[in-house]
Amino acid sequence: MSGAIRQAVILFGGKGTRLGQITRDIPKPMLAIAGDRPFLDYLIEMIERHGYEDILLLAGHLGDKVAAAYDGKVVGGARLRVFCEPVPLGTAGALTLVRDVLDPKFVMMNGDTLFDINLRALERTAQAGGALATLALREVPDAGRYGRVIEAGGRIVAFGEKDPTHSGAGVINGGIYVLRREILDLVPKPPCSIEQTIFPLLVARGQIAGQHFSGYFLDVDLPEALAQGQLELPLTRQRPAAFLDRDGVINVDSGYAHRLEDLVFVPGAPAAVRRLNDLGYYVFVVTNQAGVARGFYGLDDVHRFNAEIQRRLAVEGAHIDRFYIAPYHPDGIVPEFAIDHLDRKPNPGLLLKAMADWPVVKDRSFLIGDKESDIEAARRAGVAGHQFHGGDLDAFLSGVLRGHLGDARSERRR
Ligand SMILES: [Mg+2]
Repeated sequence: MSGAIRQAVILFGGKGTRLGQITRDIPKPMLAIAGDRPFLDYLIEMIERHGYEDILLLAGHLGDKVAAAYDGKVVGGARLRVFCEPVPLGTAGALTLVRDVLDPKFVMMNGDTLFDINLRALERTAQAGGALATLALREVPDAGRYGRVIEAGGRIVAFGEKDPTHSGAGVINGGIYVLRREILDLVPKPPCSIEQTIFPLLVARGQIAGQHFSGYFLDVDLPEALAQGQLELPLTRQRPAAFLDRDGVINVDSGYAHRLEDLVFVPGAPAAVRRLNDLGYYVFVVTNQAGVARGFYGLDDVHRFNAEIQRRLAVEGAHIDRFYIAPYHPDGIVPEFAIDHLDRKPNPGLLLKAMADWPVVKDRSFLIGDKESDIEAARRAGVAGHQFHGGDLDAFLSGVLRGHLGDARSERRR
């Protein structure tokens, strides 16, 4: 299962001249959105939530400022590295700059655009086909502003030029790709644009694919779009959360599971997580790991096991946004963990921590656990709890979602 992608590249070379004076001293992706949160932080958060561990920022204009703020930074489980173009190389040319550190397959994202998609779903499509580039596509009401993607028989057959006079809805390139490193062999001497030179070449060779997504999309190219982002981007982070117990819900509870060979998914678990991802839920694992307090295994083993869950889910187009762990037990033998901590379920600490870390929409959130103590933790945190007694998790989730979506509908009617 080592096939999961671990690397993502964010590209921002442009000077942002259409935004005017404001980008003279600040690189466009570092412009603050609400409060002092830069646009770039929204992209980094989206990537690291999906479990990608290595994020490369390819900077151009004012790259030293990007490096000073981000190089070496760790966000969630991801480490950031900044690379600066000495001269503008174009979107494909910039990739040649990092040729030596690129993995065989990686995600690439346009640093001017936020497109809220399930990145692992795009990756899964890319892994299943043989294309060198797999693009996230979006239908928009004003396609002429971006340039249309022309499809026929489910395939990309051409890329139209930007043509603001040709108004109307259409499909566009959403600025997120899964690429194979071999694509670099097609890049001539820079400057070279991946959109204008390489993608049309791949169309001719039948080596490009697309997948449609309908999530939130914003391209901050114009002052009006930036103003729109100020209002809307903070709202994109407000999501309901699905809190999932781990042992007995995601993986079969074999008793203190911690070895990678002990990891067996509960039937329907990857499908359930993927469905929650596609619906825009945060998916948080909240797990008691008393085996650490009891000295059966260490926290490193827990992290390794969780990373393996993440890798195997990725192959299925799914991800966990964050793992929250309570390594405590009052009868433990490891002194620092031999206590009944607020985090240990049935106490609500892990859920409260997650809700402090993320702007969770609490009244639409829920927990699924297999023990009474899980349900009690949910109750103490003020979140709906659903006890799973085995079987297929995705089928169980269907019932849970029916209940919650039904509630939301009747609330709207009121
Ligand atoms: Mg359990």
